[in-house]
Amino acid sequence: MAQVLQAVCPATGRLISEVPCTPLERVPQVMQVARRGQGEWSALPVATRLGYIRRMRLAMVERADEIASGVSEDAGKVPVEAVASDLLPVLEACRFLEEHAEKLLRPTRVPTPLLLVGRKSWVEWRPRGVVLIISPWNFPLQLSLVPALYALAAGNAVVVKPSELTPMTGVWIERMAQAAGLPEGVLQVVQGAGDLGAALVRARPDFVFFTGSTRTGRRIQMEAAEQLIPTVLELGGKDPMLVFADAPLERAVEGAVWGGLFNSGQVCVSVERVYVQRSIYDAFVDRLVQVVGTLRQGYDADADLGAMTSPAQVDIVRDHVLDALARGARLRYGPHPDAWPSGPGRFIPPLVLTDVDHSMRIMREETFGPVLPIMPFDTEEDAVALANDCVYGLAASVWTRDKARAERVARRLECGSVVIGDAIVSILNHHLPYGGEKDSGLGRYHGPGGLRLFCRETAVMEQRLPATREVHWFPYQGKYGPLLDLVRAAYGPRRRWGAFAGAYFRLLRASRAPQPTPKEPGPRLPT
Ligand code: NAD
Repeated sequence: MAQVLQAVCPATGRLISEVPCTPLERVPQVMQVARRGQGEWSALPVATRLGYIRRMRLAMVERADEIASGVSEDAGKVPVEAVASDLLPVLEACRFLEEHAEKLLRPTRVPTPLLLVGRKSWVEWRPRGVVLIISPWNFPLQLSLVPALYALAAGNAVVVKPSELTPMTGVWIERMAQAAGLPEGVLQVVQGAGDLGAALVRARPDFVFFTGSTRTGRRIQMEAAEQLIPTVLELGGKDPMLVFADAPLERAVEGAVWGGLFNSGQVCVSVERVYVQRSIYDAFVDRLVQVVGTLRQGYDADADLGAMTSPAQVDIVRDHVLDALARGARLRYGPHPDAWPSGPGRFIPPLVLTDVDHSMRIMREETFGPVLPIMPFDTEEDAVALANDCVYGLAASVWTRDKARAERVARRLECGSVVIGDAIVSILNHHLPYGGEKDSGLGRYHGPGGLRLFCRETAVMEQRLPATREVHWFPYQGKYGPLLDLVRAAYGPRRRWGAFAGAYFRLLRASRAPQPTPKEPGPRLPT
């Protein structure tokens, strides 16, 4: 009997469907189909490929409600977030590609140095081939489809392996590919767990785009290194929020509540640590507790906080909270883990922790749950040191009315993106690169670089003058002196164009000298 993945709604416990797993033995066939499809796909003009992406965008808009409901049920997230953080970023990616991909994929003319006079140089952006995309469960649609769309626009075939916890989103991706009429083999969705992901990496795709935990990212990188497969790894985070005394208090409080509790905290770039300058610390915490108390947890269209998608994540959050409480943290809002509600929905009520410090797991490891730990700081220097005291470096936010300070602090934070006066939103701008530092990952995507990431960057140089023999070719006779003169003229304290031209002319003359005719056949050996 074929193995299946049970798609169960984390918010209700309802069995949505049983999705057949892709057997491991099918992996070679999946790769073959992708390679066949890629050949024809890459031969299409970019504009034609973008036409398919446009059709996919329109199909998604037409069925927006169904897709949002599907993703919401698959991940247990509230419907507003399924639209705002899964569907909308995908549509924005389509728009970005439709508007910019053609220009970005055109060969790029680059300067040619004077030394190589008579030549023309350019860069070609050729597809890599088959791109494997392995994605997590927290934004199942966005984190599968955005890289897939970029890779497709660049002329690659794509194999998407969604998380085994959100297989229905994979089904929706297949439906959308069909609705757009994508040719066979261009976008395949395979369903299964980590063993399938590992088998796909071993099957030698031309590029691996991975989003998930740092632990799995390391494993994939090791396997890919063995085979010299290029990768991008988008991994975990522990993002700090720095609130200075002059920040607008109400806005910073609401920003912290949304940034930390959005998607129940299951966001790689969510606010995982809040640092507040001591003089406003008490007022900030008091107000934050009030605001958190106004939130509604549930699963209907008006709910603010949804369910926990992964059972394993609930255990991690519980362990972090218990560790913090055992080390002296104070639960300022929300129930003790012993009093968390039990099924059928998998919910953790929002929690606010104070009296936390960096000895606690909640301030050092990725919690990925609806918990806001808040800690005071005294000086700007302390704030930067606390923010950077972390193995992760995904994103951060800085809150102050002092623009100069905001920019100064932002420059010192060790992370891939910083938002000033808000949190998270930079990920929505496809003109900005997205990715992490330290244990948060390798590489960037989104934006021009994010499209060319899915290309083999190929250098081309063309000789355009009808020279019969180049100055750097054999024979070398008579070239040493002029070459040294050329080096001095071109690379000394200042360029001397006259001397450069003179040396070049003498090199040219030496290279035009008739080739000596050997007296006997064979190489001329040292005498
Ligand atoms: P995970 O690492 O457990 O799984 C991610 C994907 O990898 C899944 O599809 C899984 O089946 C697959 N996988 C597991 N083992 C594998 C292996 N050995 N080889 C190949 N594939 C394998 O992560 P998760 O629990 O699904 O997601 C949560 C994590 O993702 C968090 O750490 C979060 O921070 C991170 N994340 C990062 C970003 C980002 O952009 N940086 C975005 C979202 C989530």
